[in-house]
Amino acid sequence: MNAIRIREAADELLLDHARGAASAPVDLLVATHVALNPAARRRHRCLEAVGGAMLDTIEPVATAPDALDRLFARIDAGHAAEPARAMPACAERFPAALRARMPGGVDALPWRQVTRGVHEAALGVEDGPQKASLLRIAAGRAIPRHTHRGDEMTLVLEGDFTDEHGRYARGDLAVADGSIEHQPVAGTGGDCLCLVVTSAPIRLTGRLLRLLNPFLPR
Ligand code: ZN
Repeated sequence: MNAIRIREAADELLLDHARGAASAPVDLLVATHVALNPAARRRHRCLEAVGGAMLDTIEPVATAPDALDRLFARIDAGHAAEPARAMPACAERFPAALRARMPGGVDALPWRQVTRGVHEAALGVEDGPQKASLLRIAAGRAIPRHTHRGDEMTLVLEGDFTDEHGRYARGDLAVADGSIEHQPVAGTGGDCLCLVVTSAPIRLTGRLLRLLNPFLPR
């Protein structure tokens, strides 16, 4: 999965949401993403403006990796740029869609330790094997090196993390799959809190941890 494919995968999530075709976990992820990220909000609004019916009639253009970018450019050409004040940044700690999933607050969630410095809490938003959860990586801590058995979508809510593919801060969405191996490391400025949607457990790839894979829950 290269940079273009990652961008495409993020756009596909926006498109699914705009068409009402996303799963409940992806719905939550996209609603939170567009609330935190002005660029994602702009792309999402363009897709909504086009309308799902029209998009359904567009010939599949899988051979053109920039097809969605060209679609956005066409849409932008027909619409005056919106004033910045129409897209205010989310002033709340968490957007409304996410707050609705944790009425007792983030600390009341069923947190469990994944590894040293890393905790996860399920949000009870699932669709088949796909589920949404919060992940908290303590400042400076790392998630063990791993690859993926399915798609992994990670939206940063607070703090930041860095992996082999870039640095991600509040509002940034990282998409990974089985072609990506990485070791996310939280920034040292504070804990990194993320909203994560996964459909299968990760597969550890570190030299020692690889030995533990057969014994980990699947
Ligand atoms: Zn990962």
